[in-house]
Amino acid sequence: MNYKKIGKFIMNERKAKKLTQAKLAEKLFVSEKTISKWENGKGVPDTSVLPNLCEILGFSLNELVNGERISGENYVSKAEEKLLEMVSKEENQNKKMMLAMWTITMTSSLFYVGIIILTLLTLNEGVLSGIIIAIATLVFIVAVFIGLKFEADAGYYECKNCHNRFKASYRQILVATHFATTRHLKCPKCHKRTWAKKVMTDRSK
Ligand SMILES: [Zn+2]
Repeated sequence: MNYKKIGKFIMNERKAKKLTQAKLAEKLFVSEKTISKWENGKGVPDTSVLPNLCEILGFSLNELVNGERISGENYVSKAEEKLLEMVSKEENQNKKMMLAMWTITMTSSLFYVGIIILTLLTLNEGVLSGIIIAIATLVFIVAVFIGLKFEADAGYYECKNCHNRFKASYRQILVATHFATTRHLKCPKCHKRTWAKKVMTDRSK
């Protein structure tokens, strides 16, 4: 898939409809930054926004995927194929990111606890052990933040109320209370705060 071509296509169609990036973002419940990311070819729309995007800008899914207007009718199956391909690719990437997140948080937690126990056992309560624990704490905090970043980037959260699947920002995830990867988040669609489950794709199978 040619992201740049798709981005340019979205931009041209948006301008043809006399919509600003902000206006389109609002209609799709995404950020303005997301629209600009698509248009610059740095990403493509999530499958959850595709139907609305196509409807608002008045093109078919196949035209979007190909980044140009297409005439003729016999392209439906091909578009479906590409869409499925996109979803499974994303799912795999997200699974890898979650694995990285777990590896980082688990390893750093073990490492942290290990260092503290070792320090206290060998050095007792001196200045040196204070310094070592302080450094270990700092490293641990950094590792947790990196883990969180992976979690923010990977997959979606599913609202318990309306089952809408949405992306949460790094900041939202940072402040949300959580139980493993299930987080207490506000749904952008129904605006209810629920215990949203982490899911790897933006649509249920
Ligand atoms: Zn909801």
